[in-house]
Amino acid sequence: QSPEVGRLLEAHELSAKLYHFLLKNTEHGKEAMDYLRSRGINDKMIDQFQIGYAPNRWDTLVQFLEKRGFDLGEMEKGGLLSARQEGSGYVDRFRDRVMFPIANRNGQVIAFAGRIMGEGQPKYLNSPESRLFNKSRTLYNLNLAKTSIRKLRQSVLFEGYGDVISAWEAGVQNGVASMGTSLTENHALMLKGICDEVIICYDGDSAGQAAAMKSLPILEQAGLHVKIAVISGGLDPDDFIRRHGSDRFVHGVIESAVSPVKFKLIYLKKNHILLEEDGRISYSREALKIIAPLASPTEREVYLRELASEVKVDYETLKQECNLMRQSMLKKQQVGDNNDNSWNNGRHKKVRVPAPNLLPA
Ligand code: ATP
Ligand code: MN
Ligand code: MN
Ligand code: MN
Repeated sequence: QSPEVGRLLEAHELSAKLYHFLLKNTEHGKEAMDYLRSRGINDKMIDQFQIGYAPNRWDTLVQFLEKRGFDLGEMEKGGLLSARQEGSGYVDRFRDRVMFPIANRNGQVIAFAGRIMGEGQPKYLNSPESRLFNKSRTLYNLNLAKTSIRKLRQSVLFEGYGDVISAWEAGVQNGVASMGTSLTENHALMLKGICDEVIICYDGDSAGQAAAMKSLPILEQAGLHVKIAVISGGLDPDDFIRRHGSDRFVHGVIESAVSPVKFKLIYLKKNHILLEEDGRISYSREALKIIAPLASPTEREVYLRELASEVKVDYETLKQECNLMRQSMLKKQQVGDNNDNSWNNGRHKKVRVPAPNLLPA
């Protein structure tokens, strides 16, 4: 570790302490404190996650760091300060924002996410990537959650900081979030290193569900067992907990997480209009692509019967079509045609062996 990196880590640690102090103990932090209270974040959570407040001034951090002999140019490169637009010198990067420190897995602060209070853009201002902070290798809260993740061999993956924090308070202490970016292979491998199963618990809106569809194969590819917790009514986990309480979140959402197949079928259904014939036909075609490769005949039958009643088609008819599709999938496999992986979600691009739960011996 170079001396610059050491100094930058030190500056982040001190800045987090400063923001936290300003929130809790000064007049500056009063509005932010009210904001956090209105979101159901109590003192214990504020301490646990070292939440802070960056005042509405240009030079709070500039002065603070300068007084302690930090090289302001380095601090700008590290994302704590910004270069002045005109002339020389530096200004605080984060102003009038609620501050969430982001730690690496050892608990060292390496970046911040600053939330605006109320409306405005951007909602979250994050630190830029720096020598300390690489988004695609950072999971929010991994430092605190890793103990529980290791013990349970399971983690819960959220979209937002607020979701992680509220879930923690609700008793779900194996929760992490990717940094507002999409989940990367790196993130998945980090989790694979400490657990076997990941529950995706994204926002209940369509963006969240689409993101879950994207994260699913990335986690599976890393060898993780995946389940998806679906939240109804478009709420995110944070809103859900506030509205319905911890018990319903733990039992009704986390513990009711569904298998990837079930989730794909739910997702598919949402995107088809089943009141129309066209919708029912295309829904059933897409659903068969998910059901046909399943190795277990029981599993296939359960989903086919459900599908039959949804699309108002006779079970035997669907079964016949399913078997045809299955035959042709098997054949493609046998002739080693790897070009069409659509039935398998593009998962085994260069591999001819199907996933364990797909296609039979
Ligand atoms: P809140 O509850 O504070 O309104 P959220 O976490 O529910 O926020 P979403 O809009 O659901 O916010 O977005 C999920 C995550 O995506 C955020 O927690 C944040 O990490 C990231 N994000 C959202 N909007 C922005 C933005 N404008 N800039 C950077 N990151 C963002
Ligand atoms: Mn969202
Ligand atoms: Mn959200
Ligand atoms: Mn939210």
